[in-house]
Amino acid sequence: MSAAPGEVTPLERGTPYEDGELFDVVVVGGGPAGATAAHELACAGRKVLLLDRAWRTKPCGGAVPPQLLRDFKIPQSLLVARVNTARVISPTAKKVDIPVGDGFVGMVDRDMFDEWLRNRAAIAGAVRRTGAFTQLSRDQDGTAVLMYTEGRSRQGTTRTVRARYVIGADGALSPIARQCIPGSHKAKHVFAYHEIVKSPTTDSEVFGHDRVDVYYNAPLSPDFYAWVFPHGPTTSIGTGTFQKGFGLKEAVAKLRLDTGMDGLETIRREGAPIPIKPLPRWDNGRDVVVAGDAAGVVAPASGEGIFYAMTGGRFAADAVEEALQTGKASALKQARRRFMRLHGPVFFVLDVMQSFWYTTDERRERFVAICRDRDVQQLTFDGYMRKQLVRAKPMSHVRIFFKNLAHLAGLAPA
Ligand SMILES: Cc1cc2nc3c(=O)[nH]c(=O)nc-3n(C[C@H](O)[C@H](O)[C@H](O)COP(=O)(O)OP(=O)(O)OC[C@H]3O[C@@H](n4cnc5c(N)ncnc54)[C@H](O)[C@@H]3O)c2cc1C
Repeated sequence: MSAAPGEVTPLERGTPYEDGELFDVVVVGGGPAGATAAHELACAGRKVLLLDRAWRTKPCGGAVPPQLLRDFKIPQSLLVARVNTARVISPTAKKVDIPVGDGFVGMVDRDMFDEWLRNRAAIAGAVRRTGAFTQLSRDQDGTAVLMYTEGRSRQGTTRTVRARYVIGADGALSPIARQCIPGSHKAKHVFAYHEIVKSPTTDSEVFGHDRVDVYYNAPLSPDFYAWVFPHGPTTSIGTGTFQKGFGLKEAVAKLRLDTGMDGLETIRREGAPIPIKPLPRWDNGRDVVVAGDAAGVVAPASGEGIFYAMTGGRFAADAVEEALQTGKASALKQARRRFMRLHGPVFFVLDVMQSFWYTTDERRERFVAICRDRDVQQLTFDGYMRKQLVRAKPMSHVRIFFKNLAHLAGLAPA
């Protein structure tokens, strides 16, 4: 039986509780970061509350690497499509198909995927409640008190819980980060918008059920890219940009018109900010640590955030577990330190790549030309699939370096 809008189901309300109940950890936000953190801490035997406001499906292209399935034990049954080619398209409509190799890029529908993750955390022992966190204060002995509005509507009853530690996994523009983490208001965002449409029935030049299409073209995005991502019966057509005044809806309308997909039935229209730069601090030095979009960890250039959110959630859970065991709040710093040690170099390279290649149509044209190169294709996909800069083939790096130089100097054909 589904609940009426604003009504709280017994499952979502969770076990009976009293106001001010004390948890080892309260995780705010039940997306990939929060659900992963809650699952890990519940598995470690901690008393965990997973609080999520559950108002809507997270706007997302839903592309995930196979490494995510392996690292977080996600069943392949959650994939709604598998992609084996990425097609990049230049401003002058030149196309380069990059094969994924012997792997695949998985596609998830976020309503199913996130709910599966939250449910897994609950099965492991986390208490699940539906409600929107509003404010963090302190009781007399300094313990964190979290106030939230119960249920799916903004008019629900106000409740409180207390927490020895708090994980803020409440997404971009995180209320936890804004209230507790110095410098979080400086986050840098791409504004993204997409339309979920009914998929075309047949494959064509502009659509493939097992292919993602990525458009580098100023009218569609002045500094990011536009995309067509297949999800089996539905498809995400979207774009993003750093520029606040840019007409995202108009750009998607243009892409749909140009590709002949304007006649497809539109199921949903939605947008959200994508935080593209890791925050300088992820913890408050006392009892709060943030993860995922709340910490700003979406990869520049690609906009990939699900894998990094789950990794950040895991590192936040590890850091909190260490703090609980040792009583040392300084352990919370480990979350950022471990994440940046592992993924910082990739974020740096992607940031430089986006800042240079995504800025003019002439550079985009050359960027797409570079993608034709086998070494570049190999490096890109190894990086995406395995989530690390590959060191095994130093000669490829040298070749890519010189080819890049040739393109930068305009010596190579676009
Ligand atoms: C249009 C678009 C397309 C994208 N495409 C891709 C893609 O193809 N592949 C990819 O890897 N990444 C993609 N991303 C990025 C990806 O969606 C995010 O990086 C990822 O969802 C981050 O996970 P998270 O758990 O940190 O945050 P979220 O998924 O945003 O989850 C935050 C959770 O917190 C809850 N919440 C928020 N505020 C409160 C509150 N006050 N109280 C309680 N709960 C709260 C929300 O309900 C939500 O469940 C895309 C993003 C956008 C916007």
